[in-house]
Amino acid sequence: QSGSSDETMTQTQEDSHDLDSKLLGPVPIVVATETHTFKLAEKALEDILLDESVRDKKVAVVSVAGAFRKGKSFLLDFFLRYLDREGAQDWIGGENEALKGFSWKGGSERDTTGILLWSKPYIKKLPNGEEIAVLLMDTQGSFDSSSTVKDCATIFALSTMTSSIQIYNLTHNIQEDDLQHLQLFTEYGKLAMEESDIKPFQKLMFLIRDWSFPYEQPYGAEGGNNLLEKRLLTTEKQHSELIQVRKHIKSCFSDIGCFLMPHPGMKVATNPTFDGSLREIENEFKEQLRKLTPSVLSSENLVVKSINGGEVTCRGLLEYFKAYMKIFQG
Ligand code: GDP
Repeated sequence: QSGSSDETMTQTQEDSHDLDSKLLGPVPIVVATETHTFKLAEKALEDILLDESVRDKKVAVVSVAGAFRKGKSFLLDFFLRYLDREGAQDWIGGENEALKGFSWKGGSERDTTGILLWSKPYIKKLPNGEEIAVLLMDTQGSFDSSSTVKDCATIFALSTMTSSIQIYNLTHNIQEDDLQHLQLFTEYGKLAMEESDIKPFQKLMFLIRDWSFPYEQPYGAEGGNNLLEKRLLTTEKQHSELIQVRKHIKSCFSDIGCFLMPHPGMKVATNPTFDGSLREIENEFKEQLRKLTPSVLSSENLVVKSINGGEVTCRGLLEYFKAYMKIFQG
């Protein structure tokens, strides 16, 4: 009896050591229900945003959005590591260090269309000395049936409206489909936002996973931006629909970029119990991860959430969440 309770104790202590507090984890904030409506987990959101340490601080919201099982959690785990180690030189860890700790994996909400927030906001200092809260968001769903298209568009619109950077996680390339989905959910968002001259959304980053044409465009931001320019180019010969999609996307965001990630290696892609051991990840992937992560999360690059031209605090963000939910439910 006592033996087993000791074991439980040790287990819990290990967990809490790894995770700093066992309460850390992804928290469902907006969930799509089976009847195609949405629920805002108001209490859970308040617990995060009204915490004394952050409620009056401005907030930067980093969202990664895309279909299930495309490596979003894997990436977010690295974002957490970067924030946790405060961007130290060796934040990514040593080759033989099986970095443990955070994970967005597991839990019943895994394959549910919705928005998750990491339970703990990080506090970061901007170059001007101001402390802000940084929130990580995971937005998932799939556009694979007509009933899910509307759900997804709504959820993606919500996360695009409430984040300061939306990282649109795609595999292999930017396809016409991806642009159409993007148009659909920014359309929803645009409708919900007040008329103003200011672009409704802030930063959009296409993140292309498993990019396999580095000889055409090199990995990273430069290759990404070249590819993006080509994809968003409009020509007179194009069908008007294609032109429309491109114009719409450009008109919605104040900043659009793209980053090409290499394949992480077969161990990552095929082993379901992969634990994030760095030695199992291809060097090229790690090299790009070392560039991508600070390009989003370093204090120089963090973007404070701004709505209609005004910067938003955590407390303010809560109110926007509630207001946007009402619009979408109405
Ligand atoms: P999520 O559902 O989008 O959050 O996806 P996960 O992060 O859980 O990853 C799904 C599977 O893909 C896991 O087995 C990962 O190890 C693997 N994976 C992670 N990143 C990549 C990547 O860049 N490329 C490939 N091919 N697989 C990846």
